[in-house]
Amino acid sequence: MMSPAEIEKIRADFPMLSARINGKPLIYLDNAATTQKPLAVIERIRDFESGQYATVRRGSYRIGEEATEMFEDARGKVAAFIGARDRREIIFTSGATQSINLVAQSFGKKFIGPGDEIIISNMEHHSNIVPWQTLCLEKGCALKVVPITDSGELVMEEFEKLLGPRTKLVAVTHSSNVLGTINPVKEITRKAHAVGAMVLIDGAQGVPHKKMDVMDIDCDFLAFSGHKMYGPSGVGVLYGKYDILDAMPPYVTGGDMINTVTMERTTFAKPPARFEAGTPPISQVIGLGAAVDYLSGAGMEKIFEYETSLLEYGTRALSKIDGLRIIGAAPRKAAIISFWLDAVHPHDVVTLLDQDNIAARGGHHCAQPLMQRFNVPATTRVSLSFYNRPEELDMLAESLRKIIKVFG
Ligand code: PLP
Repeated sequence: MMSPAEIEKIRADFPMLSARINGKPLIYLDNAATTQKPLAVIERIRDFESGQYATVRRGSYRIGEEATEMFEDARGKVAAFIGARDRREIIFTSGATQSINLVAQSFGKKFIGPGDEIIISNMEHHSNIVPWQTLCLEKGCALKVVPITDSGELVMEEFEKLLGPRTKLVAVTHSSNVLGTINPVKEITRKAHAVGAMVLIDGAQGVPHKKMDVMDIDCDFLAFSGHKMYGPSGVGVLYGKYDILDAMPPYVTGGDMINTVTMERTTFAKPPARFEAGTPPISQVIGLGAAVDYLSGAGMEKIFEYETSLLEYGTRALSKIDGLRIIGAAPRKAAIISFWLDAVHPHDVVTLLDQDNIAARGGHHCAQPLMQRFNVPATTRVSLSFYNRPEELDMLAESLRKIIKVFG
């Protein structure tokens, strides 16, 4: 378990955490939206941009070759971090959203047809709903939705009933960005594979907080974002099993993803290059490599353990507040607490919390079908990181009590 001294040491690595706003400290509780960056990431990007910068995969001069090495080294780091067999299974994208769209538009284009079925769940982020809905409209296939219980868990019996010979793909989130629920992704994968379906895991909220092992889960695809795992924005990852990637057609076409081009025809490069058309986000990829090093140094098991203890602490603190209802009570949860106050709308709650420099999120969190399931227009959400302190949750509870007293 991380000690308070260790947490203070970690906090010192994140310059934003000592930012003062209107002379008061910042309490940053919106980590599911985006995380702050440690100096190791900021400095890595600064060093690269100020002393080592060149484009990659082209330069026949020294700094170009070195930049390519650093870029590919980051790919290797990401592969090792999620337990991929081979670094060629790592495709750099602009974020989880683009990673999912890539699978929908490339895998979907070739392998999904009329009458086929795609299964998602009721707790997906819009980025794991809309690309499939769009594909279904284009292809004449059907979208099936796994329902969730009142505590916010997938109804696994219903999932099993939805699986069948027409199921081509199951796309579910590792952890809900609203409820925190951690889904049984290994079991889901095993059951989907038993009917011959492929599995995509949306790891945007999983990879930054819990050790991920794609070979153990056996998923076919995993999508995640750099900016939610202490790295830069503008970069994300699609992991895919190599043979599947190799069978997929290009998604975006252009430079850098080809073998040969004539005016009549083009032959495409092998993965990952086939899916990385154009100049990639070079500095961001290198920064992501530094973020992976930072997380590995801190230890994913320790991070998960500490965040779980924070979640329990925060849940206890908020549960004591009259008129506050927590939405999402699954036994396996990531450190996210969504709640509804009887008396004040989430948009007002977050504006009022902001007066105490508490950054929390109010809204539908890009999960409108989930809001509909729980019959609320929005929730207030706090999402924690291993750099948060228990005292910050005490301050949150105090601030909420004040809001209820004055405006409730
Ligand atoms: N999936 C989940 C579960 C998310 O929480 C998010 C972002 O909030 C995304 C996907 C999309 O990530 P990005 O906007 O970085 O592409």
